[in-house]
Amino acid sequence: MDSLSDRKRFDDISLNLEEIRENIARAVAQSGRNADEVSLMAVTKTVDSRFINHAIGCGVNLIGENKVQEFLAKKPELNLTDCRSHLIGHLQTNKVSKIVGEVDLIQSVDSIRLAKEIGKRSALLGINSKVLIEINVGNEDSKFGFCLDEVAERAHEIAEIEGVCVEGLMCVAPICENESEIRTIFSNMHRTFIDIRSKNIDNINMNVLSMGMSADYIPAILEGSTLVRVGSAIFGARNYR
Ligand SMILES: *Cc1c(COP(=O)(O)O)cnc(C)c1O
Repeated sequence: MDSLSDRKRFDDISLNLEEIRENIARAVAQSGRNADEVSLMAVTKTVDSRFINHAIGCGVNLIGENKVQEFLAKKPELNLTDCRSHLIGHLQTNKVSKIVGEVDLIQSVDSIRLAKEIGKRSALLGINSKVLIEINVGNEDSKFGFCLDEVAERAHEIAEIEGVCVEGLMCVAPICENESEIRTIFSNMHRTFIDIRSKNIDNINMNVLSMGMSADYIPAILEGSTLVRVGSAIFGARNYR
């Protein structure tokens, strides 16, 4: 039996998802794009499986987890038949063999070394791993990822690695003072995404531009995001035990 507080949380998740979907629909319309051009990912770090499954029951078809161990521990309990999963957190090379083949895409490729390790492990399993290249769009010391001005060159290098297929770009934006600042950052990401796409590099599909989180998914969509990663606005504040 679900406890009373569980039921309250289930209700909150349903309502939050409804509100976020409305906000997304409005931003998509405002930017003159089609509704199917933007995917909503539910970010499930620290969230218990029963709440994740509730979100999936409400139509969530993409989840993102930060940590390999946490995802693998929850995976057997999740109803993933109609739901894809991505790894979105920093991945250490020594954990690559555990996650390759377990998620549909790895969003957080932040070094050539990591891309090579993913390629090596994928080739051993006879699979191709889809990845996004992570950009440190605010050039912050605290964040992982490539600089915007080097990414085109690095994308070429990653495209040549066997077992890896580049599907797009991802970023975690810095905290900004105002709306125009964040829009400029997202707009720079989008321009780079379009630039690389226009080069038609073999083994690089610029299909996914993953940007926007709870605090900034609306400006991200207005600037061309195709995938927003929303955690706390769906599940409530995280409790890191
Ligand atoms: C936690 C996390 C999110 C979601 O953050 P919220 O602010 O809770 O929406 C998105 N992307 C990454 C990479 C994260 O680690």
